[in-house]
Amino acid sequence: MCYNGSSGEDAIVRICVLASGSSGNSTLISTGRTRLLVDAGLSRRETLARLASIGEQPGQIGAILISHEHSDHVAGLPVLAKHLKVPVYLTHLTAPSVSWNGYDPKLETFQAGSRIVIGDIEIDTFTIPHDAVDPIGFSFRAEGVKVGLVTDLGYIPDSIKFHLRGCDLLVLESNHDLEMLKVGPYPWPVKQRIMGRNGHLSNDVVCEFLRTELDPATTTLVLGHLSEHNNHPEIVRLGALQALAGRSLFTKLVIAEHREPTEVFEY
Ligand SMILES: [Zn+2]
Ligand SMILES: [Zn+2]
Repeated sequence: MCYNGSSGEDAIVRICVLASGSSGNSTLISTGRTRLLVDAGLSRRETLARLASIGEQPGQIGAILISHEHSDHVAGLPVLAKHLKVPVYLTHLTAPSVSWNGYDPKLETFQAGSRIVIGDIEIDTFTIPHDAVDPIGFSFRAEGVKVGLVTDLGYIPDSIKFHLRGCDLLVLESNHDLEMLKVGPYPWPVKQRIMGRNGHLSNDVVCEFLRTELDPATTTLVLGHLSEHNNHPEIVRLGALQALAGRSLFTKLVIAEHREPTEVFEY
C-alpha cells in the first residue's frame, strides 16, 4: 500500500524507542504524514534532544498518546504538550488522574479497548493488567505495517496475545530478573507489587512467551522497561536469544535502554 507517489523502496513507517524504563518512557512512531509520541516520561528538554538526535523535528509531532498515568510515562507531559501545542490522547478514566500543573491541553479521550485513528495511523487500544487507573497497550497499523507496544503489565492474558499477533515490530516489557528482584534492595511490599498480577513482566515470563507465542511474522523484537536495580540488559539478551533460537526464529533482538534512544526501525 503506497501513497503520495512514495516508491515501494522508501521506508514508510519509522519507530524509535526514545527511552524505556522507570526513569522515563517515550516512543516515536511516524509515517510520512503523521508523527506520534507514545508516552511522555522524559522532560521536555530531554525529549527534544532525543528527537533531534534521530533527525526528527519536534514541530512535526502531531499528537501525544498516553498509556497510563504513572510518572515514568507522564512526567514531562504538561510541559511537552504545551510546548508542542498538540492534542493528548488518553482514556476517559486516565485523563483526570494526570496532574496538568495548570496547563489545559486539548484532550482527545476514548474508552480503553476502542480503535482510534490519528492521521494515517490506526490504533487498537487494549486493557493491560497493571496497577494504574485504566492502563492500556497499543497496536498500530499504517501502510500495511503493524507495531505492538506493551509495557507495564503483570502477566500476558490471551486478549493481549491476540492483539500482538501479526506484529512486524513488537516492543514488549522485560522488567525484572526474578532472582535479582527477590534478593534486591526493594522493601518486600514493593517486591510483591512488582511480581503481582498487576505489576511488571519478569524475564522468565517473556522468554516463555517467546518460546510459545511470538508470531514468526515479528521481524524485530524490542525488549524494554528493564528495571535498573533488578535486571541487566545482558541477562535479558541471553535469555531471549536462547528462547528465539529454540524456535529457529531469526527475529532481530534489541534491548531498549534508559539513557539513549534505540536505532530508528524502518518498515
Ligand atoms: Zn512504567
Ligand atoms: Zn506503570
